[in-house]
Amino acid sequence: MEYVFPPTPVVAVPIAESPDAASTREGFPVRRIYCVGRNYAAHAREMGHDPDREPPFFFCKPADAVVYVAPGQTGEFPYPPRSSDVHHEMELVVAIGRAGRDIAVDKALEHVYGYALGLDMTRRDLQAEAKKMGRPWDVAKGFDRSAPLGPIHPVSRVGQIERGAIWLAVNGVERQRSDVSQLIWSTAETIAHLSTLFTLEPGDLIFTGTPEGVAAVKRGDVMSGGVEGLGTLNVRVA
Ligand code: MN
Repeated sequence: MEYVFPPTPVVAVPIAESPDAASTREGFPVRRIYCVGRNYAAHAREMGHDPDREPPFFFCKPADAVVYVAPGQTGEFPYPPRSSDVHHEMELVVAIGRAGRDIAVDKALEHVYGYALGLDMTRRDLQAEAKKMGRPWDVAKGFDRSAPLGPIHPVSRVGQIERGAIWLAVNGVERQRSDVSQLIWSTAETIAHLSTLFTLEPGDLIFTGTPEGVAAVKRGDVMSGGVEGLGTLNVRVA
């Protein structure tokens, strides 16, 4: 079929050759971006919630919110309009490589293609207003360029990431630090839950939640975050 205008290209994230290599050969085509809310207990508390394993809840970002940042480079996150309180949320991102629905917890990791570093950038003021008014979070979470992302590290190279430090510094000063083992809902449990709500497909990404220490950024700040074994993600607020 002819289109009335050229279709938007597929969003693709390069596959990492090694945790620190800049060179890449293949791309991971992104289908959907799912995000888990309040998945580290201390972060749930700092947002004013009791983290006592309330069922996981999800929100989405559009695939084209991804801003790919190559290892060793500093990406650019343009400060978004209509907000004066934009927060960083450093997260471990799961890349789905195999379709499934109603996936059992003990089979869930078989659906993981790899892992990446991601930032779930958030217009916290608009999110607070949405919460107060009982409105959706889309404008707070799914805005343009709200998902800076490093390359995808295949499980075949880095293994399953079930523990290891996760951290974020801004201008060299640490703000967030925890361990992936502190996730309230593990990656396997998250995949199992999510797959009861949506059929997961290859190309789906899952932002697994952020540790405590979320805070505002301003123009000129440089965010540097990582997860043990996955290198570092560097992004400047422009
Ligand atoms: Mn988040």
